[in-house]
Parts: sequence; structure tokens; C-alpha cells
Amino acid sequence: MMRAILGGTFDPIHWGHLRPALDVVQQLGADMLHLMPSAQPPHRDYPGATAEQRFAMASLAAQELPHCEAEAWELNQPRKSYTALTLQQLAQRWPNDTLVFLLGEDAFAGLPQWFQWQHLLDHAHFVVMQRPHAKRHYCEQLQQWLHGVEVQSIAALHDHHHGRVYLAQTPAHHISATAIRNAIQTGSPWQHWLPDSVADYITQHQLYR
Ligand code: ATP
Repeated sequence: MMRAILGGTFDPIHWGHLRPALDVVQQLGADMLHLMPSAQPPHRDYPGATAEQRFAMASLAAQELPHCEAEAWELNQPRKSYTALTLQQLAQRWPNDTLVFLLGEDAFAGLPQWFQWQHLLDHAHFVVMQRPHAKRHYCEQLQQWLHGVEVQSIAALHDHHHGRVYLAQTPAHHISATAIRNAIQTGSPWQHWLPDSVADYITQHQLYR
């Protein structure tokens, strides 16, 4: 079984996360999509939702999508979220499955700053989703690393259990959680950027005001 895992702060989760992820899941023929909110550092410069609320919104989004569920693993850890450790532990939970971690180009460009980044592919593949305005020129270190691990077709991921990276062609969505929070504060329309149930939740709980 192939499991795609989309991690993120998801404050809130929106179509800019979900549409490219669903596109990759379809291209891959993956069996499941797991939406995994990360634990958040205590220092925040915006009025964000609580971990419980971010998980609730991911769960509502998952209910609207096929073969999709919210994953509470990182929120339940008594530590910061480190993807290398999370993937190691998820691989122990699902030893017979292939894990594919999804991330946007902007996040991918910062990979060399991630904890134990050279071990990120020890238990999973990575698929990079296109993101408008993200820089496409990666630093020398990342380019060199990519040279050794990149595959040129998504089908090639099925030939290996882990250890490969695919730069996917995904539809560009000009949506970010920051833009949604700003729109709520300034009274601009924002509901169309999220699944209806998530927009309703934000309104009911008066988030991001
Ligand atoms: P913020 O605006 O608060 O920084 P965000 O919308 O960028 O939030 P995150 O939860 O930080 O969302 O992102 C989770 C993952 O989804 C990251 O890998 C990010 O690159 C990716 N992502 C977010 N928005 C998009 C988008 N519009 N297109 C493609 N990937 C995206």
C-alpha cells in the first residue's frame, strides 16, 4: 500500500494544500492521503489556532476528500516536529507500506535547514508540489543532493521503497494560510479558499480575527 503524507502547520488548511496533494495522489495511484498538522513553535507573530483546532480543521477537510484522513502523530509528540523522526516512526507503524512525503517548493528549498536532513529519505520518498512564486533555484548543497536522488517520472517511485525525490507538475494555486488570515482580519472574501466545512468551523470559532 502506498501512503501519501502531507505535513504542515495548516493554520488553516486550505485548497492550496489539498488540490496539489490530491493531484499527486492521483498521479501516483496512492491508496491514502494523510493530512498531518505539525506541532507549532511557541513563538508566533500572528493569532493562530490551537493545535486542537488545527487538527479539527484537518479532520473536517479529510472528511470531504476520498481516501483521506487526518493524522495526529506530530501533535501528540512532546517535542517539536522533526520530519526525519516522524517518518522513521511512521515507517515502524506501517512496515509493509511505501511512504511518500509531500511538500511545496518553498519548503523543499529550505530542506538543508531541516533536522537530520540527510536522513529524510531513509524511510520515504519525497514529492515536491509546485508553488507560485517559490524560487526554483536551489542552493548548491540541495542541488547536489537532488542530483543523486531525483527520478524523472512519478512511476519510478514505485520501483523503490524509499529514497527518491520527484518534482511534480501540479496545478498552481495562489493560496496561503497567511493570505487567508489577513483576509479575515481585513474583511475580504476568503471562504472560497477552503473546504466549506473548514470555512464554517473558522466562522463558528471566530478564528483569526
Ligand atoms: P503560511 O502562509 O502560514 O506560511 P502555508 O499556507 O504556507 O502557511 P503550511 O501549512 O506552512 O501552509 O504548508 C504546508 C505545506 O504545504 C508546505 O510544504 C507548503 O510548501 C505547502 N503549500 C502551502 N500552500 C501551498 C500552495 N498554494 N501550493 C503548493 N504547496 C503549498
